[in-house]
Amino acid sequence: MEGKKTYKAHVMVLAYHGQGHINPMVQFSKRLASKGMKVTVSAMLSTTKAMKSASSAVIFESIYDDTTEGGVAAQGGFKAFLERFEASGSQNLTELIKKQEISEYPVKCLVYDANLPWALAIAKDFAIPGAAFFTQSCAAIASYYPMHYEILEKPLPLPAFSMPGLPPPKIPNLMSLGAVTGKHSPIIKQICKQFDDIENAEWILFNSFDKLEEEVVKWMSNLWTVRNIGPTVPSVYLDNRVENDYDYGFNMYKPSTEACMQWLNTRETGSVIYVSFGSAASLNADQMAEMGEALKQSTKSFLWVVKPTEQSKLPANFVEETSEKGLVITWCPQLEVLAHKAVGCFVSHCGWNSTVEAISFGVPVVAMPQFLDQMTNAYLVERVWGVGIQPKENEQNKTTAEEIGRCINEVMNGEEIRKKAIQWKSLAKEAIDENGSSDIHIDEIISRIVAL
Ligand code: UDP
Repeated sequence: MEGKKTYKAHVMVLAYHGQGHINPMVQFSKRLASKGMKVTVSAMLSTTKAMKSASSAVIFESIYDDTTEGGVAAQGGFKAFLERFEASGSQNLTELIKKQEISEYPVKCLVYDANLPWALAIAKDFAIPGAAFFTQSCAAIASYYPMHYEILEKPLPLPAFSMPGLPPPKIPNLMSLGAVTGKHSPIIKQICKQFDDIENAEWILFNSFDKLEEEVVKWMSNLWTVRNIGPTVPSVYLDNRVENDYDYGFNMYKPSTEACMQWLNTRETGSVIYVSFGSAASLNADQMAEMGEALKQSTKSFLWVVKPTEQSKLPANFVEETSEKGLVITWCPQLEVLAHKAVGCFVSHCGWNSTVEAISFGVPVVAMPQFLDQMTNAYLVERVWGVGIQPKENEQNKTTAEEIGRCINEVMNGEEIRKKAIQWKSLAKEAIDENGSSDIHIDEIISRIVAL
């Protein structure tokens, strides 16, 4: 008979909602579990329901029923949803940690998504360290930091991190966060809440790696104890040391896996343009038309993810007219796609997960950021890492088919960009591999928690 499982210590992880937040948090949890930690992931019910069968390495506990109380779509929009989550979630999380106090493995550390800063007070109540996990790049967080001080109406404690030429963040249209009052939009105020009380967090964690963001990590280390623990891409694609870690286990839409992979198998090496704008961004009909035209005009074939909510904006007859060279699907297994040898470039909105995935798989990028941190990530892709190019918008803020086509050609044929992409791929693997920088950080965090 198998003996009772023993652990080094117990960590509670508090995850936020949304594909781009859940993926890195659960992946980090799996990594901790593979190193002998007991890990409980607390999240809202829709997340825990979706994840329960996806990983047996960690325990999932619901702390808020968003399915009956209503999610973002319910009355009051995103703002009310966050308030409901905080009110019930903080109470239930407290209960959950309390329950563990009399168990063999009381909770020794609370890792929380930085979007849920109220979690830190709970950690303090239990006298355990709290670790804020940012699911964006270090550079994006550095770019928001001065705005936090503007909102507080206090002087910045140190000169801002310099990113010459970085345009100001475009703001998505999010009515549900309330009206604009004062200099900053509600979304910026919401984002800046991530900095609330942050100096009291024991660690500030990022799904990044030291070499990828060397300068900004140096700058940030003047403020906080920053630890990069990424890439959190499933282990099978990088170091292969975490058992059964093949995918994220979470998909907001059903992926067309078989259709995608069978289609990719028929294509030549490096010949496919993969296009996806992630879970939240959307192109307007005009921009969709330009994208469609660019793909139609290209001599290469393409795989285009057009979410169910975006399908109506596809140009008329586009799918029929391009069926010889293209495949349009509503969601795909992005990791498998990026890992496929047929894929030659990634036209991406540069969400942080997609960016880290492109780096980890060595796929060069045509960067088409839509808003917020995507702008910073696109800047890094082109100007700092040299693994892609960003098409220029015209005076009407449109990226024309011609311009997209120019960048696709440059990225697919550019020796230098491809060389850089391959170099970064090996650095990503090195970082998370045994004794790589991220692996060392994770081990150090574990040792500290175990010693408590
Ligand atoms: N993704 C996917 N299939 C798709 C499109 C996206 O699995 O068809 C995944 C992708 O691998 C990434 C996540 O969805 O992990 C999107 O996160 P990201 O931070 O790139 O963008 P967001 O959706 O947060 O804007």
